[in-house]
Amino acid sequence: MKPKKSLGQNFLKDENILFDIAEEGKINNEDIVIEIGPGTGNLTKEILNRNPKKLIVIEKDKQLSDIIEKKFGKNLHVINKDFLNCYKDISFENPVKVFGNLPYNISTKILISLIKINNISQVFKKFIFVFQKEVADRIIAEKDDHNYGRLSILSSWKLEKKKIFDISPKKFYPIPKVWSSLVVLKPKLKCEKINKTKNLEHITNIFFNQRRKMIKKPMKQLFINYEKIGKELKLDLNLRPQNLSVEKYLEICQLYEELS
Ligand code: SAH
Repeated sequence: MKPKKSLGQNFLKDENILFDIAEEGKINNEDIVIEIGPGTGNLTKEILNRNPKKLIVIEKDKQLSDIIEKKFGKNLHVINKDFLNCYKDISFENPVKVFGNLPYNISTKILISLIKINNISQVFKKFIFVFQKEVADRIIAEKDDHNYGRLSILSSWKLEKKKIFDISPKKFYPIPKVWSSLVVLKPKLKCEKINKTKNLEHITNIFFNQRRKMIKKPMKQLFINYEKIGKELKLDLNLRPQNLSVEKYLEICQLYEELS
């Protein structure tokens, strides 16, 4: 079968890497596990070896979901759907662990969709995801880092983050153009209240679309009396967007929601 580029099909083929990814799940026999995009089942096999209570795989490609069904049918539940169209239907008694060597063309979309879930820590226990390295670096970036931006802030709002290791393109078939990274994300039990994720997206968009400008400019765009609000928030308006902490962005967002 020819891998489909449109579905981001780059299969991991290195046994050691697959082993190490599965280990990050610390799977026990109480765990319900979901795998996004199992492909030909290389990671699936490693997950099954660890005997979770239940494994559900969601694969958009009919050909591949048939292959998986044939290979492991008895031991897992195969859903032949687009993850983005069915993740909202997921509900179990206990939070689930999610694995995915994510299709790169929609990896950030998947992450943002998950962040938008209201009670994320009640639905998900842990995400063990392979992203393209450049995206992983943006997710885990801290304030003052040049990769720090929207994705870092949105994910820090809801998730604890840890990069585990980088993966060479040579470990995949077909070989992608870029390096990848394994990242483990854990939903925070408590996070700051924001009414609409859309507002935080809007605010971080306005700030980081002009990442080299002083924050005076985006503040002016967002608030009429921006100077007073700057004082209230103890903001130095001469700073650049990358110098503000996640907490500050959440405060800005909360105030924005209060005033609008
Ligand atoms: N986990 C496998 C395959 C990773 S490639 C491995 O590591 O070898 C990405 C997989 O995601 C492919 O199988 C692709 O068909 C699947 N996929 C792409 N878009 C998807 C979507 N929207 N929903 C579910 N699966 C998807």
